[in-house]
Amino acid sequence: MTSLDIKSILSKEAGPHPTETRVRFAPSPTGYLHVGGARTHLFNWLYARKTKGKLILRVEDTDQVRSTRESEEMVLKDIASLDLNPDEGPGFGGDYGPYRQSERQEIFQMLAVSLLAKKKAYRCFCTEEELDSKAKAAKAANKPPHYDGTCTHISEEQSQKRAEAGEKFSIRMTAPQKDYHFEDALRGTVTFKPGMVGDFVVLRSNGMPVYNFSVVVDDYFMRITHVIRGDDHLSNMIRQLMITEAFGWKIPKFAHISMILGMDKKKLSKREGASSVHDYLNAGFLPEALINFLALLGWSPSDGKEIRPLDEIVNDFDLERLNKSPAVFDDEKLLWMNGEYIRAMSTEDLLPRVLPFLEKSGYNVATKPKEWLLKVLAAVQGNLKVLADINAHVDIFFDTKFTFEQDAKTMMQASEAKKVVQVFRQEIEKIGEIQSESDLQKVQTAVKEQTGTKGKNLFMPMRAAVTGKLHGPELKFVMPLIGQKETLRRIDLSLDL
Ligand code: GLU
Repeated sequence: MTSLDIKSILSKEAGPHPTETRVRFAPSPTGYLHVGGARTHLFNWLYARKTKGKLILRVEDTDQVRSTRESEEMVLKDIASLDLNPDEGPGFGGDYGPYRQSERQEIFQMLAVSLLAKKKAYRCFCTEEELDSKAKAAKAANKPPHYDGTCTHISEEQSQKRAEAGEKFSIRMTAPQKDYHFEDALRGTVTFKPGMVGDFVVLRSNGMPVYNFSVVVDDYFMRITHVIRGDDHLSNMIRQLMITEAFGWKIPKFAHISMILGMDKKKLSKREGASSVHDYLNAGFLPEALINFLALLGWSPSDGKEIRPLDEIVNDFDLERLNKSPAVFDDEKLLWMNGEYIRAMSTEDLLPRVLPFLEKSGYNVATKPKEWLLKVLAAVQGNLKVLADINAHVDIFFDTKFTFEQDAKTMMQASEAKKVVQVFRQEIEKIGEIQSESDLQKVQTAVKEQTGTKGKNLFMPMRAAVTGKLHGPELKFVMPLIGQKETLRRIDLSLDL
């Protein structure tokens, strides 16, 4: 970036925008988008839509070891899959970019240096090793791990000299020892007492800003009005308030949203192996169901109706309706909700969603007429909780996937069953294609009369022979879809078992 860009960024109007809501999602790109991050993004997206404001996506990639461009792409792809794209961000344009912190380094550096001139910060020449051993000693002496002040009193002249001589330094901010407080939309007034933090680094000796510094600077220059983020950042607020105060800036509004717990009541986090949006979509969760479910993690609808379209969630969403107690991520509930979404869809809408799952499992869907596929889908739709479930239910409709399950095989080995199926075969040959339920009834009545069997003993062998299973979609759905020829082929196979 040229210094001209920095100048123009620093000379623009900054601070919380006076007339437009501007919220941001600020992921650190270190992998796929985790469901917790997706919930934070969603709440920001909902608030932006509700207030007709803007959602900014800012990539916090100053951790050079853990952040990758690949991860950034993965996160953006997951957001796009949920159809929750931001209004501004890398690849989305906007007047307040660049939107990657790694591209804003010079701004952080210039501002950190400006704190030296204001006497709000000082050069710290302590090395990592020195700081480490001091922190250990403080811990051993049961003292707070605050900076011990070695570089606090170095004179300006000395400090300048050492810097000019090429000695490495970080920029450390003086932590004013007084009360700090701010208003949180969920928690009311939050107060921090003096003594909680010591002087802290804002710019590392490698020129990289620390998170607390870059976040405050970027929120200010990107004109953020509301910071909606996880409550794991609450404890960072004291440093962020100190930095904001040192610059004399106005703070945005804050809403620290509840943490998400797993069913084991442990914090759901990336490190504990909880799933990403990518995993859920791959398993066949619908983006709209996942969004609806995530919206309920920490927000409750005013009328208690949980399943609802996104536009209704937008209308009802408000920071005042956010709940500060932890939300529980209940996988069973998500499964149930996803099943409800699947059942509520028309087969026309559902078909393109399930096709990739069928193709991946080797079903020859390309050769099948759409009308036929829609009927197959209608026969199994009620059994699906996730899209991927389709594979386990439709094998009976595809000649190439047809097999007998063990319990069906066992049933077909009994001579009474074989007798039923032999007569069934003759009747099917007579009637031709089964077109309707009444055609099937005619066939079954004839079999019943000729064999003298009824109930389970009559119906189960027919089902076992034609579907290879004892449970699953009814014959009245299966037979018209597989046709007479395939039905007879299966019956013959069953008679050979
Ligand atoms: N990059 C931070 C994170 O991923 C964002 C923190 C914030 O929203 O202020 O946790």
